[in-house]
Amino acid sequence: MQSALRQKIRIALLIFSFVLMPVTFAYISCPLITEGASQGIATGGLFVFALLFVGSLFFGRLWCGYLCPAGGLQEIYARVNGRPVKAGWLNLLKYPIFLGIFGSLALAVYSAGGLWVFDPFYQTGNGISVDRSGAYTLLYAQIAFITVFALLAGRRGFCHTFCPIAVMLILGRKIRNAVGWPALHLAAAPERCVDCGRCSETCPMSLDVRGMVREGRMEQTECILCGECVDACPEGVVGYAWRGK
Ligand code: SF4
Ligand code: SF4
Repeated sequence: MQSALRQKIRIALLIFSFVLMPVTFAYISCPLITEGASQGIATGGLFVFALLFVGSLFFGRLWCGYLCPAGGLQEIYARVNGRPVKAGWLNLLKYPIFLGIFGSLALAVYSAGGLWVFDPFYQTGNGISVDRSGAYTLLYAQIAFITVFALLAGRRGFCHTFCPIAVMLILGRKIRNAVGWPALHLAAAPERCVDCGRCSETCPMSLDVRGMVREGRMEQTECILCGECVDACPEGVVGYAWRGK
């Protein structure tokens, strides 16, 4: 696929996913999933989380790069604050947040005595998330939250510092890497690199892609496999690959 076209399609998918958020947010909302679990209900959101985790065993954080609605909103805000994020220790903040959110979910399941009902449309009207009173409040609260992180921290600030789904996908990737079955990767041919730095400039996760190429370490926790570096490199140094360990 032509490189510019792939990135246009990717950004369009992300922004469309954000536009669909009034329909879909119940399926990615941690508070709603936990609320359902506290009543013994396996919600549609819990099912989506399980799918995302299984997907991460083969595709890492591809969801973040191509389909996440919060990613779509952050792509829009990158036009306002496109500063690269030097997150450093702030990258670690999402781990205790993940433990808090997923710990509450596990506790909710435990206190309900398990999950005995599957309700794919929990807290939606015919599958549409805002089709009930008060739902807009929850939606706008989530949007406001993502906005603050994206505008204050810079490019994909919410992904770096807060997102618990990112941590879930990172865990899936770590499990895959430990075992080594075939999965989607970035691969590089460092001998062709002319050190122009375009890959690092375009990386939405502010990674030092040029350094990764030089050191032959293309596997990075914060990489969302978006392919911006693949498509920006004038020498075709970086590419996607499907392989084992
Ligand atoms: S390293 Fe490449 S694929 Fe990974 S996030 Fe950066 S630009 Fe995207
Ligand atoms: S864009 Fe390609 S040639 Fe330029 S630094 Fe990155 S890998 Fe090397």
